[in-house]
Amino acid sequence: MSRVWNFSAGPAALPPAVLERARDELLDWNGSGASVMEQSHRGKRFIAMAAQAEADLRTLLAVPDDYAVLFVQGGATQQFAQIPMNLVAEGDSADYIDSGHWSAKAISEAAPYVKVNVAASARDGGYRRLPPREGWQLDPQAAYVHYTSNETIHGVEFHDIPDVGAVPLVADMSSNILSEPLDVSRFGLIYAGAQKNIGPSGLVLVIVRRDLLQRPGRPMARIFRYAEHAANNSMLNTPNTWGWYLAGLTFQWLLALGGLGVMAQHNRAKAEWLYQAIDGSAGYYHNPIEPGARSRMNVPFTLHDNALDAVFLQESEAAGLLALKGHKAVGGMRASLYNAVSMEAVQALAGFMRDFAQRHG
Ligand SMILES: *Cc1c(COP(=O)(O)O)cnc(C)c1O
Repeated sequence: MSRVWNFSAGPAALPPAVLERARDELLDWNGSGASVMEQSHRGKRFIAMAAQAEADLRTLLAVPDDYAVLFVQGGATQQFAQIPMNLVAEGDSADYIDSGHWSAKAISEAAPYVKVNVAASARDGGYRRLPPREGWQLDPQAAYVHYTSNETIHGVEFHDIPDVGAVPLVADMSSNILSEPLDVSRFGLIYAGAQKNIGPSGLVLVIVRRDLLQRPGRPMARIFRYAEHAANNSMLNTPNTWGWYLAGLTFQWLLALGGLGVMAQHNRAKAEWLYQAIDGSAGYYHNPIEPGARSRMNVPFTLHDNALDAVFLQESEAAGLLALKGHKAVGGMRASLYNAVSMEAVQALAGFMRDFAQRHG
């Protein structure tokens, strides 16, 4: 068996220690004689595991008590609609910051439920920088302000939490949650699909300030209502039991490594190493993002001659470097450097890039 260096944008690499533990426990989980996927979510073993996962996440992010933590299904994409359904009343408007592919998706999916005010956009510049905070046209009456803390496809990341005053701040953190410590109290709601930095796809984390659960929202089925999920410990219906379990193992792995302060150092060092390989290549490789907005998690780059793209992909794969093809919206290459991607993997990639430039100079 051989594991490759996996730079997939999502579903992304999981920590080997988490996969090994899941393998070891697969047939007989927790002394139950069955796998975690084969038993009731109402059973005491599952309930204890689920509660531990939530407690560990609360420890990692220092989530204040006045926030509910939900483990729900439907992907981050479903949240694009579910957020306005829950947080707005008929006739309300909400402010959106358009910083790339995913915020643009969030905007179009919210439109059936709320009057969307695009308070700032970086689209004109091709999403190569963040819209400067001074230019945001925020409405103090908005139901909330939505932004995407890391744009997985364009490779831009907010390195500070924007100050939006008293209006609740809502963040799509699908691709950078748990990559560094976070002041949760600055947010009204945080959501993240699991398959970038938490676990397998099919699970979404929602961290929501409890007072927002009181908002009546738009007419909707119970299954969409956060307050119902919160009142039922995310077991309003059958949850994604496997995803919840693997997320719990990832939280334990992060705690054992020393928590998010340690992860932040790793992630900064990894990103610096790769950007250095790009910037130090005398133009052979290029990252188009304004330096202050560069993502630590997703690093898109192009080759000086795109006729070499196919060769680069072929040779990198042969060298055990997986999933470097860029998203079609951007082209070129992309390396995703989530928590489970080691410094060793990044050094292998940078070494390959140097070697490739020499051989195909
Ligand atoms: C991947 C991703 C999404 C979409 O997630 P799904 O689970 O496929 O719905 C949304 N936002 C961001 C920032 C992402 O990286």
